[in-house]
Amino acid sequence: MLSTLQKEILKLKKTENAVLLVHNYQTIDIQEIADYIGDSYELAVKASQIKDVDYIVFCGVDFMAETAAILNPDKTVLIPDKNAKCPMAAMLPASLIREARLKHPHAEVMVYVNTWAETKAEADVTCTSSNALKIAKKLDSETILFGPDKNLALYVQDRLTDKKIIPIPDYGHCYVHSQFTYEPVKMKIEYPDAILMAHPECSPEVLKRADFIGSTSQMYTYAKTSPYKKFIVTTEIGLIQRMQREIPDKIFIMAKPDAVCTQMKMHTLEKIKEVLVNKDKIVKVDSEIADKARKAILRMVDLTND
Ligand code: SF4
Repeated sequence: MLSTLQKEILKLKKTENAVLLVHNYQTIDIQEIADYIGDSYELAVKASQIKDVDYIVFCGVDFMAETAAILNPDKTVLIPDKNAKCPMAAMLPASLIREARLKHPHAEVMVYVNTWAETKAEADVTCTSSNALKIAKKLDSETILFGPDKNLALYVQDRLTDKKIIPIPDYGHCYVHSQFTYEPVKMKIEYPDAILMAHPECSPEVLKRADFIGSTSQMYTYAKTSPYKKFIVTTEIGLIQRMQREIPDKIFIMAKPDAVCTQMKMHTLEKIKEVLVNKDKIVKVDSEIADKARKAILRMVDLTND
């Protein structure tokens, strides 16, 4: 049953003509009142398709809300807490791409959507964990500069031997996913009948032992549609809680119950209500940067659908 606060937000969404986009890592009370829940790619696509609303309230981190703003220049994007900033995105400022391009003038630049708008503006294309391999295959150049997640770069490189993937920087990582080390392996021994699902931001050691590798939404779909019943999951707990709630006939085991993205968890129901009332936390992107970044994002969408 929904709480009074959840009901108030649903009412406000209607009166203010707003939609609520919610990342898989948000808490369950926020997921319960979302218009759309998904990974960064799904939310980016959804953001590009939204019509007839005045406000998009984005419960995710800074770069995701920026992407929604870039794809919706005619709408106001609000973020409940402006401190929800992804530390990995901060590891690849635009200046590092400019420097890398000077060193590798013939390389194409593919950046993870987990980057700031100004970084995307310097790239040829963006990608997510669900389509990085597909997009890298489709690029013309033999050398690809990719960042900021080094584990994702290594994952793509491992499967794309005819191209060279150069990680920029060579220390980029997600602190949530890189903390999985021996636990998933230990759990595989403890639960021999369980499928180990891993996010490509995890270390090569974990990925080597995984039965299924995919983005949060790919994991969700796999868990829902595959015949398997038990899963060990190496990603942020928000997705695991979503799967436990929405796929009740299957068993989900957290590889590490303290794998929490504190930045994602900064949004709360109280802050969502506040931002819908005050409309003060607006996500703004410089129009010149937004135009360039939009090209890189839409190229990703084209190449993914191609
Ligand atoms: S889970 Fe990792 S990549 Fe995602 S927002 Fe948190 S720190 Fe950034």
